[in-house]
Amino acid sequence: MAPKLPISGYDYVMPKPDAETIRKSIVYKLIFILGVDPKDADEHQWLNAAMLAARDLIAEDFLKTRRAHIENSKRMVYYLSMEFLLGRSFVNALINEGVYAEFEEAFKQLDKEFSDVCEQEQDPGLGNGGLGRLAACFLDSLATLRIPAMGYGIRYQYGMFKQEIVDGQQVEKPDLWLDQDLAWQFARPNKQYAVSFGGQVLNMGDKKEWHPSEEISAWAYDEIIPGYGGDVANPLRLWAAHAGNLFDLADFNRGDYASAVRAQNSDENISRVLYPNDSTESGRELRLKQEYFLVSASVQDIIARHKCRLANIRNLADEVAIHLNDTHPVLAIPELMRILIDEEGLSWTEAWNISCKVFSYTNHTLMSEALETWSVDLMGRLLPRHLDIIFEINAYFLNALRAIGNFDDEFVRRVSIIDETHGRRVRMGWLAVIGSHKVNGVAKIHSDLMVNTIFADFAKIFPERFTNVTNGVTPRRWINIANPALTAFLDKHLGEQDWRLHLDNLVKLNDKADDAQVQAEFAEVKKAAKVRLADYIEKELDIKVNPEALFDIQIKRIHEYKRQALNVMHIVDRYNKILENPDADWQPRVFIFAGKAASAYYMAKKIIRLINDVAKFINNDSRIRDLIKVVYIPNYSVSLAQIIIPAADLHEQISLAGTEASGTSNMKFALNGAICMGTLDGANVEILDKVGAEHCYIFGNTVEQVEEIRRNGYDPLSYIEQDHDLRRVVNQISHGTFSPEEPTRYNDVLQPYGDHYQLMADFRSYIDTQAKADMHFKDKAAWNRSALINIANMGFFSSDRSIADYCRDIWYIKPLTEKELPRRPE
Ligand SMILES: *Cc1c(COP(=O)(O)O)cnc(C)c1O
Repeated sequence: MAPKLPISGYDYVMPKPDAETIRKSIVYKLIFILGVDPKDADEHQWLNAAMLAARDLIAEDFLKTRRAHIENSKRMVYYLSMEFLLGRSFVNALINEGVYAEFEEAFKQLDKEFSDVCEQEQDPGLGNGGLGRLAACFLDSLATLRIPAMGYGIRYQYGMFKQEIVDGQQVEKPDLWLDQDLAWQFARPNKQYAVSFGGQVLNMGDKKEWHPSEEISAWAYDEIIPGYGGDVANPLRLWAAHAGNLFDLADFNRGDYASAVRAQNSDENISRVLYPNDSTESGRELRLKQEYFLVSASVQDIIARHKCRLANIRNLADEVAIHLNDTHPVLAIPELMRILIDEEGLSWTEAWNISCKVFSYTNHTLMSEALETWSVDLMGRLLPRHLDIIFEINAYFLNALRAIGNFDDEFVRRVSIIDETHGRRVRMGWLAVIGSHKVNGVAKIHSDLMVNTIFADFAKIFPERFTNVTNGVTPRRWINIANPALTAFLDKHLGEQDWRLHLDNLVKLNDKADDAQVQAEFAEVKKAAKVRLADYIEKELDIKVNPEALFDIQIKRIHEYKRQALNVMHIVDRYNKILENPDADWQPRVFIFAGKAASAYYMAKKIIRLINDVAKFINNDSRIRDLIKVVYIPNYSVSLAQIIIPAADLHEQISLAGTEASGTSNMKFALNGAICMGTLDGANVEILDKVGAEHCYIFGNTVEQVEEIRRNGYDPLSYIEQDHDLRRVVNQISHGTFSPEEPTRYNDVLQPYGDHYQLMADFRSYIDTQAKADMHFKDKAAWNRSALINIANMGFFSSDRSIADYCRDIWYIKPLTEKELPRRPE
């Protein structure tokens, strides 16, 4: 784009381009970068050209940011995550750069349907669920808050699988997201690092030398993340695996092309897929290799960047914070130690002091079965030097404990990084806690439980280390992009200060929530989103749903702890009661589900099938007269969430108390004026606290009650025996009412003897609370008022607030000031 060239020398102070400039730039990109005649270009090529034009704006911000960061010696944070669930980039970039209207106008001038062009973009499937989406919201907030930062992840060739529902069952198809061939990422062929595996460690006097047996090359691709307001842009650097020695030339010269390529293929498998099936040994090995691949390339890059700037490795901790998103990147700790000691020649103590200051770690789960451990054998085989270092970290740590004296052997055994009770395993969570200066949970209740349960021992040793940062979501994507009608409504009602940057401004809606006119306007906002979703459902699934019905939505990964099965039990109970009492004043409801099950997770896949069987059965029962519709929307993704969430009236956040760390879809829904049906779990607790009990449906046992029930020996059968409705539902599901062609299909789903997630214990409270929501919904004014009060009190849940917390309490980083990085002239 011509006007985006530097005005003079290396200065980048460019005015915002107008529509005509943009139109010319798009055509220029199409012809001269993509080599396509505008007369022949298809929608996809127009998108590609437009993305290149938009990228120019972001690239300029990125260079300015980088320069301001270096010139002012600002501290910087590196965010390491195995997942980044970004969603589409194009419209986000336009909104954050403030040029959406100009691009829309440019396409009008080109006589092209802008929305058709935008729809061409596929979501990059580089994540699986909340953890990856959190990382994406955080990148948006970091750039918006003008924090020098960089994300590191893996450029999976096939991200999360594409989900199809065939005969009611999940079928996994490869997600060929790179096939769309968008010229959006910057390839960085000059950023390559060798990542090594295997071999042995030799003792060379007081030094150790690692002689690996395998080497793979990590190549960098940068996705530039623009902040809202368009001054700062930060890179997300994604690593792709390339065969280390290209391929075996000896094989090739012998004419054995196949085996030369085979070796190359197996190396490049490292960045082939997100979450290899970990039910096999080779799948687990691949996953461990992926984790090391990410951290090794990233830590090498961080050190190279630091050295090129300041040339002194000893002040690394002054300049750099490295954040570990869950335990997956925790090998970064031994990797940094290895480089500092083996390559930079620092002493153990010097290296450890630096390392502990650099790292911080976010815990994402309390469920012990989900805490990562690796067998000592596997780690010793793949990463012998790192295993050495982990042993040494452990020895120092345990010796220090013993020196303090008041910890008994049992305690020391429990906090050892090496678990000796399950066939010697490395506990990654323990390593993370010992090697970080701060450890945080992701919602208040989660952080409290963290220090009282899984990390209770460590909280005694390092009480000051543990803290909370409640998650948040970015209002730019989750309102501005996802919900155009609500965006216009907020712009109209919130006045001067931009709510996109100051989400606390939403509180002004509290004063308007009683205004009938405002309620009616909001009803139109909701209606528009529901019609949009109903159209989508009809187009994609050929199911007609009534936008006047109550839309009751549960969208998230399918997992037993999230209790989609409890939702199904409510649907079945409602079905029974409608048949029993057809003339009662039933509130029509549309139940909407979406979510993927991990490919090796038998029970989650069965739950998907159950939902679809129940949907088929009830949707086709004419006696129900559309009082219930059940819809399973396949292939849940960020883009799908953007269509579904604004349309919700009620959202289901019904995990067993104590199992969901935070949840973030609960925040997105409330922000879009939906009311929570939830347990006292994760961030639901804080949402309740902000919006008040009248505007948030809470049911079920508390964490304390759940624990007490467990302690006393939970007996699901006693609930079933006492509750006629529950008994009927369990019998119908277990005995084949919804699978007449195979009556035993669901005989193991509700587990009346095990019921680990206590569905039976919460059933009655859930059903009764759902009935209250029906009553509330019938009073439209009251419901709209509650919805408005939900929106009004969501300011706290902006990821900008989360990132401000991290910067202040964990990373010790300040934003770039306007002096350090001047704002772009209007
Ligand atoms: C927000 C989000 C999630 C997280 O949902 P939870 O209900 O908090 O588990 C998962 N996937 C996508 C696509 C999301 O946008």
